Amino acid sequence: MRYQRPRGTNDILPDETPLWNRVEETFRTLCKRYGYHEIRTPIFEDTDLFTRSMGEHTDVVSKEMYTFTDRGGRSVTLKPEGTAPVVRAYVENNLAAQGGLSKLYYITPIFRYERPQAGRYRQAHQLGVEAIGSQHPALDAEVIALAMHFYRQLGISRLSLVLNSVGCPVCRPTYRERLREFARPFVQELCEACQTRYELNPLRMLDCKREKCRALLHDAPDIIESLCEECRTHFDALRQYLDGLGIPYVVDKHLVRGFDYYTKTAFEIVSDALGAQNALGGGGRYDGLVEEIGGPPTPGIGFALGIERAIIVMKELGLAEAKREAVEAFVAALGEEATLPALKLLQALREAGISAETDYQRRSLKAQMKVADRLGCRVVLLLGEDELAQRTVTLRDMVTKEQRTVPLDTCIEEVLQTVRNA
Ligand SMILES: [Zn+2]
Ligand SMILES: [Zn+2]
Repeated sequence: MRYQRPRGTNDILPDETPLWNRVEETFRTLCKRYGYHEIRTPIFEDTDLFTRSMGEHTDVVSKEMYTFTDRGGRSVTLKPEGTAPVVRAYVENNLAAQGGLSKLYYITPIFRYERPQAGRYRQAHQLGVEAIGSQHPALDAEVIALAMHFYRQLGISRLSLVLNSVGCPVCRPTYRERLREFARPFVQELCEACQTRYELNPLRMLDCKREKCRALLHDAPDIIESLCEECRTHFDALRQYLDGLGIPYVVDKHLVRGFDYYTKTAFEIVSDALGAQNALGGGGRYDGLVEEIGGPPTPGIGFALGIERAIIVMKELGLAEAKREAVEAFVAALGEEATLPALKLLQALREAGISAETDYQRRSLKAQMKVADRLGCRVVLLLGEDELAQRTVTLRDMVTKEQRTVPLDTCIEEVLQTVRNA
């Protein structure tokens, strides 16, 4: 074969797209119900947007971005995540001026130069929401409730919601110091990445996946104990709301999330059906991000959920049944003379809202019936010499096996009745 898809990417074939559509439609329907409106932003942005918002020292920015110089000499980057572009659009288009809260949702591909493995792709797809304009913890509860509702709607059970607070610019520096102090005696034993994190971004040591680092950091000080008054009140209120909504969660002091812009609430949704890469998605609050990107100080919270990961879990749990939709009617034309009348009939059926197909390969009637059967057609309309001469059509009900001759002029009505009563 001369060409292959780029490493770490996927072709989503027609047998698979019904499942993708189901996932996306479920998300759209729920977003509408929760009052979120769709936003679409470009596939690429100025590189600075991501370096600035996610933080230079995060893995994504330092190792995984698809960054290139365009013909105008600008550095641009394929979006590695969905939040910064939405916040950039919020600021640039002054959505704040519309007053109140901006509740936005998106469905987007994201691009990261990752080592390909199960559930990780260089082009992956995410569903996300961003609620910008309120710091009330009730909004955190709504955002989390929406994410959990989404998975429930897809039938995915056995999920855990993992919750933490990562503090704010007031209390995080203190915690960072406590953490450094804790790790100082064994820095040399940590992995290379964690040694860098120790210097630049010590919180990230906490979510290192290496067994050795995990063991060393197991008894790291609890960030909750270092929270300032405001962060603590926020966290307590959120927990109360989740309890009240009947949404179970576990608090995990090691949950820090990847990017610098998170403040206060951080959460992940985890499935044991996903193995080691067990987060289906996650999110958190980013009260400093709008300002960082050049807008007025505005709090916000959001999440991003991986479509590929949801689909892996659905397959694992036997929830991935999604068939191609059946075609309702098949027009079988016999002989070259029937070609134009068949095309006209096909067009009339489609104009009437009926999905219809025909044979373009000049096959025998028997072969055409087989195709109609495979497509799941309820009705076959036969156009042969006799039918043409009498301006009729032979209508065969593929379920009852009944066959009758009807006038060509009124056959659409008959087809409609048959397929709509199915
Ligand atoms: Zn704080
Ligand atoms: Zn490590």
